[in-house]
Amino acid sequence: MANYEVVIGLEVHLQLKTKTKVFCGCSAAFGAPPNTHTCPVCLGFPGSLPVLNREALKLGAKVAMALNCRVAEEIRFDRKNYFYPDLPKDYQISQYGQPLSQRGYLLILTEGKEKRIGITRVHLEEDTGKLLHGTGQSLIDFNRAGTPLLEIVSEPDISSPEEAYFYLTALKSILEYIDVSDCNMEEGSLRCDANISVRKKGTKELGVKTEIKNMNSFKAVRAALEHEAARQIETLESGGKITQETRLFDSARGVTEPMRSKEEAHDYRYFPEPDLAPFDFEKDVLRDIKREMPELPEPRRKRFMSEYKLSDYDAAVLVSDKALADYFEKCSSLYKKYKIIANWIMGDISAYMKEHGLTIDRLNLKSEYLTGMLDMIDKGIISGKIAKTLLIDIVRTGKDPLSLVKEKGLEQITDTAQIDQAVADVIKENKRIADDFMGGKQNAVMALVGKVMAKTKGKANPQKVIEMLKESLKGGL
Ligand SMILES: [Zn+2]
Repeated sequence: MANYEVVIGLEVHLQLKTKTKVFCGCSAAFGAPPNTHTCPVCLGFPGSLPVLNREALKLGAKVAMALNCRVAEEIRFDRKNYFYPDLPKDYQISQYGQPLSQRGYLLILTEGKEKRIGITRVHLEEDTGKLLHGTGQSLIDFNRAGTPLLEIVSEPDISSPEEAYFYLTALKSILEYIDVSDCNMEEGSLRCDANISVRKKGTKELGVKTEIKNMNSFKAVRAALEHEAARQIETLESGGKITQETRLFDSARGVTEPMRSKEEAHDYRYFPEPDLAPFDFEKDVLRDIKREMPELPEPRRKRFMSEYKLSDYDAAVLVSDKALADYFEKCSSLYKKYKIIANWIMGDISAYMKEHGLTIDRLNLKSEYLTGMLDMIDKGIISGKIAKTLLIDIVRTGKDPLSLVKEKGLEQITDTAQIDQAVADVIKENKRIADDFMGGKQNAVMALVGKVMAKTKGKANPQKVIEMLKESLKGGL
């Protein structure tokens, strides 16, 4: 394994979030009863003519620009010919010679370093229908036929299954920032195929590649590529040859299996689509897209590091989810200890969201409530420990932290007499630990602190408790 390097290129298909299909006026919404979103154009009736949906082209250009691609001045469509029951016209309108855009790149973070992954092309095409296989019969739903699909092809710059995972995560994050798709792999609005080959380290020539399909999550992509790389190396090591073919990933068994021999481009007999005239992008349309482009994850990560003095890791985690990063920025306008906000968001808040399957938008936690709570810790009104339970109370009730603290009597005990009593009781009840401490075991004091905190139901200030314990033990028991 160590003598080989892995070469991976990814092909992502993305359903664009348009109201209507790419070449007709049918609704592109997901989940309607089968074959209700169809018309002569998307069913491929003779004599029907396609009309380009400008919105789809605009969204496509937005993706291309976010991926640093050059958008073509003149865009042409081609026919990709093949026969399959889910393709009513027996050809797919796609782009071949003059795609929407080419030559871009995407930055990923791998082993703490930035790596540039080239984007070969981003082109627009139409989706196919969906086959539903039942017992003894197959049905076709054409609702999806003709919905706008963007194909994003990477250069073979990805050198490990882990990097493929990073690439997909970074890509999805960008796509979510520019809001062009639902990016839902389970519903099929984002699909990924992978090309992979291996070669002996130090050789330049690419090995024979296989194409892997049928992966329904980023983790599945990583697992499939790990399996396939190992299989190819094993085959070569035992004197075998790799066949150029398409393989399906079986996620239950974690293996790839041959499906069919891989087609070459010439098998598709591409030729210019005669029913659609070449399309010129007006310069001002592109200028508008550029102007409306939001700050993307990569520059935002760098800004988070410089503006909020966050670590590379913290910044990367926060900006990977746009809503989470927006929430952080809302909080940071109200409370200036940025690292503390980041810690709460990435710690207790993320854990709660994960446990309850929530996103930050759906979590009942106003930014001013979180920062208000952090203020109360700073002022010594509540302890950090109490804050952890208070946070959950705020989320559950939607009440503000101050009312909850009053209502539940969570204020820290400032009355030293009360803490004195607890300290005295704890020392009396735990003579052995107290002896240990006095015998020089400095750590023993923490065990006593824990017991005092328990006795005061977490409402004593731990720093104060340590001081008082040390003070009382100084003179011996
Ligand atoms: Zn239609």
